[in-house]
Amino acid sequence: MYIDTHLHLCNRWLDDVRRPKAIADIDKNKIITWAQSWDIPSYMKALEYSKESKYIFPAFGVLPWEAFDYKDRFDEIIKLCSEALMLGEIGWDNQNAKDKRSIPLQRPMLEVFLEAAEKYNLIMNLHFRGGLERDGFELLKSYDSKKAIIHSYSGPPEMIKEINEQGFYVSYGSSRYDKLTPSQTKFFRERITEVHEDLLIIEIDVLERGSSFRPPSVVFPKILKTIAKFRKTTSEEIEEMNQRNVLRLIGDDPKLQEMRNLIV
Ligand SMILES: [Zn+2]
Repeated sequence: MYIDTHLHLCNRWLDDVRRPKAIADIDKNKIITWAQSWDIPSYMKALEYSKESKYIFPAFGVLPWEAFDYKDRFDEIIKLCSEALMLGEIGWDNQNAKDKRSIPLQRPMLEVFLEAAEKYNLIMNLHFRGGLERDGFELLKSYDSKKAIIHSYSGPPEMIKEINEQGFYVSYGSSRYDKLTPSQTKFFRERITEVHEDLLIIEIDVLERGSSFRPPSVVFPKILKTIAKFRKTTSEEIEEMNQRNVLRLIGDDPKLQEMRNLIV
């Protein structure tokens, strides 16, 4: 079964034609999809999309570079976390912060999410980029939660050993995995091969724009193929590994019972 642990259905370029196409494709092909959000309005949309297919499950998150707009709204965030199935996308990333005013607020906002994840035992989809991979990892370790996914980890490959030891999951994939340049191939191969087989999971992240758009059922097998090639195995083995790992990650969480029933 295809399980996509990180997809943005809210991207503006998924217009009124492509978004319904993607959702219909997910439903028809039974692709379990974790719909990520990046602020409260996009979470509201993810909740709507989840009503359009039983295979879509919304995750609540506010991306780090939105932190300035949310500086007086941590209470709202806490409340939504208490109701959420999962958290995502959250994280820490100063370099890609379009709004530089978010920088001093990113860590405090992330800690609000980490506390909620600990309290409500929630799965988290985490984005640590721009040199903050180590800081993010250290902060994560200081909380008592193992249900963390470091999404498309981009720090030094050597650090993956430490991530494995902590039992944190790492997700990889993109709609462009069949179009990687040689240097991107090297970058991802060096990292994807380091992740422990019990901790690697698969994601699409974003669907492509305009005429390059391809629905999840077309993109997902291409990701499996690329990752299988890196790890010198078959697409089927990667698909099964992903399913196994996702099942372990969701565990016996009563909020995710419906999802578990669709997988087993
Ligand atoms: Zn994302």
